[in-house]
Amino acid sequence: MRSEGASDGIERFNSPGKGRGLQARKEFEVGDLVFSCPAYTHVLTVNERGNHCEFCFARKEGLSKCGRCKQAFYCNVECQRGDWPMHKLECSSMRTFGQNWNPSETVRLTARILAKQKTHPERTSSEKLLAVSEFESHLDKLDNEKRELIQSDIAGLHHFYSKHLEYPDNAAMVELFAKIVFRSKALEDTLMLALPQRLYFSNDSVALMNHSCCPNVIVTYKGTLAEVRAVQAINPGDEIFTSYIDLLYPVEDRNERLKDSYFFTCDCQECTTKEKDAAKLEMRKLNDPPKPEVVKDMIKYARNVIEEFRRAKHYKPPSELLEMCELSLDKMGSVFEDTNVYMLHMMYQAMGVCLYMQDWEGALRYGQKIVKPYSRHYPAYSLNVASMWLKLGRLYIGLENKSAGEKALKKAIAIMEVAHGKDHPYISEINKEMEEH
Ligand SMILES: [Zn+2]
Ligand SMILES: [Zn+2]
Ligand SMILES: [Zn+2]
Repeated sequence: MRSEGASDGIERFNSPGKGRGLQARKEFEVGDLVFSCPAYTHVLTVNERGNHCEFCFARKEGLSKCGRCKQAFYCNVECQRGDWPMHKLECSSMRTFGQNWNPSETVRLTARILAKQKTHPERTSSEKLLAVSEFESHLDKLDNEKRELIQSDIAGLHHFYSKHLEYPDNAAMVELFAKIVFRSKALEDTLMLALPQRLYFSNDSVALMNHSCCPNVIVTYKGTLAEVRAVQAINPGDEIFTSYIDLLYPVEDRNERLKDSYFFTCDCQECTTKEKDAAKLEMRKLNDPPKPEVVKDMIKYARNVIEEFRRAKHYKPPSELLEMCELSLDKMGSVFEDTNVYMLHMMYQAMGVCLYMQDWEGALRYGQKIVKPYSRHYPAYSLNVASMWLKLGRLYIGLENKSAGEKALKKAIAIMEVAHGKDHPYISEINKEMEEH
């Protein structure tokens, strides 16, 4: 196998049947940092402004404002200076457009990439193993809807950023947007839980990793730095796999998602043996067990209701959403066990609605039912499980059950110490929360 490029413990290689990939050059134990990589560029989403520094993404109180636009916030003068080459793309334009300044986040990120390409035409420190020009665009697989979205983003880019940027021709722009959309989706899928409000583009080595449903690493971010830690023992020569998708669901659902979004199906051990599917699709133990057709129909119903709910979230009021969850749980509960992943999916949605409505007791009830089966269905170190323990812990503490709260938060920390590293600021924040209560 031909090796291209190398970094400390990792190198780029040709993964049989998968194209390019990343492999280990040495041994890593669970919790070891396999590699870290700075973001090529990054942008804080508009609704997070004021909570985080625009430059280093530190979350703190008392950030100071950009004196010109009064919209961007920084730790200090150094961070403001560091961000200026990027912020200047928006600072005066925000003042000019005022309330009407509303480019999409993808447009904002693209403007930064174009600016960066101009100021750093050479390969940057975040492109050691893979240049941005090598990123996959999957241009040929874009449907009309996505093509239209891209054209409207290109229009937005010209509208809001024309002053400071030089634009490539339309074909090159479409390709760049396709790359960004593809990479952002991949990041959004994997990082949704950790970082809902920030965008990165993108860590080459992160983009090089292939998918497995039994991943041996997890990607987290410390500020704008991507950190990749082992969640299984890794030997020299092993391929490094991350997961692109939510691993809760059974094999068929996972591969549908992979095919839809990433244009391949997975052949990992989990997908071949379908080991976890029986538990994920657990049926109720009834004296008169449901017939296979009934089970099949219920799975079909479950998939439909998940899709229907996903759409309903955009327009239905919370009370109706909660009703949708409860009705579907009632119906599925006649066939499915409470630990069945379709039940868990709807309970998770119901918990989200309760949190939104500040119904803490309701949220806690759902969370208590979810967390144990979650721990069985997900891999040993999972951000989804950590995030559930974190939510539960905070709910317990908010509801004055301090000892249960601490226990749950400690479970979250145990996972995060492996995934995020022991010295991650998130962990000190959680420890502080425990001390304060
Ligand atoms: Zn800062
Ligand atoms: Zn400004
Ligand atoms: Zn798989």
